[in-house]
Amino acid sequence: MNAVKYMGPGAVQLQEVAVPEIGPDEVLVKIAGAGLCRSDLHVLHIPEELPFLLGKTLGHEGAGWVESVGSDVTGLEEGDAVLVSLIWACGHCRACVEGRDNACEVNGSRTTIPTVPGLGPDGAMADFMAVKARHLDKIGDLDPVAAAPLADAGITPMHAINSARSHLTPGSTVVVIGVGGIGHMGLQILKATTDARIIAIDNDETKLELARGLGADVVLRSDSEASQKVLEATNGYGADAVFDFVGVQPTVQLATKIVAPEGALRFVGLGGGTFAYAADLSTDVLPWGVNVQSSFGGTRADQLQVIALAQQGKLHVETAIYPLADIQKAIDDLEGGHVTGRAILVP
Ligand SMILES: [Zn+2]
Ligand SMILES: [Zn+2]
Repeated sequence: MNAVKYMGPGAVQLQEVAVPEIGPDEVLVKIAGAGLCRSDLHVLHIPEELPFLLGKTLGHEGAGWVESVGSDVTGLEEGDAVLVSLIWACGHCRACVEGRDNACEVNGSRTTIPTVPGLGPDGAMADFMAVKARHLDKIGDLDPVAAAPLADAGITPMHAINSARSHLTPGSTVVVIGVGGIGHMGLQILKATTDARIIAIDNDETKLELARGLGADVVLRSDSEASQKVLEATNGYGADAVFDFVGVQPTVQLATKIVAPEGALRFVGLGGGTFAYAADLSTDVLPWGVNVQSSFGGTRADQLQVIALAQQGKLHVETAIYPLADIQKAIDDLEGGHVTGRAILVP
């Protein structure tokens, strides 16, 4: 079979490799689609070689069909359409049992994320993938090609939004910054599960058009006037929740300038932007009471919610399909900002 391997900084290679063997508690998944994420680009941008990833298959958003099951596996049969979980948590530590499996104490630590396929264990950019049965969810009639991004581009915004639900009351205003692979899903989740007024901000007219089509109430270009326009639209008070799906310096700055007092600020995009926070009387950086959270992935419960929304037809993945062999073109297109929605590699 073919697999996309990490070969060092900036380098990927399509290689012919053996189909993985499965253990008694594992399932061999015939991959239908594997999403290409900005985090894949971030990983490739790291100038040092990553020893834990060298020669490993990339792809942390995967879905497909059960090809075969190990001798101990129950509840899954050949042909079932399945989504591979983003986070391979231990399932039994205190964090996992409390439903915070994205902060697993055993597979992760205070400074490292829990195990993620495609960022260590062989991932989904291949014809087949071996996965423990407990890291799979059935997706029923959903098309597993378009469903693959639910694993990350779906649960990541769902998790961030779930953490800010108390701010998203009827009459509230929420701002979505960046209508890309994750942002366009976040916008739909907000539309489907809240009564907040949605303002979408992007620097690309095509993406603003997409945002309009997905139900944004107001769309704004991310220019120097964007913060003023959000404040004007909220009587100068600011937005009750702001989701920054980009996270570069200008968007982080924009987010801090438009959040309301006691508002929720969620940093989801990993663009490397920063802001200074001081424990003093000043409101120069943030108004009083703002609740700030960065967001890593999501939980198994978030994943089930995302699958349910997709099955109800309320969460649609805008896809750009590439054959697996065109991985480099997909990377170049995403890097160049030429992908609307999510790039999906199909073996
Ligand atoms: Zn990702
Ligand atoms: Zn755990």
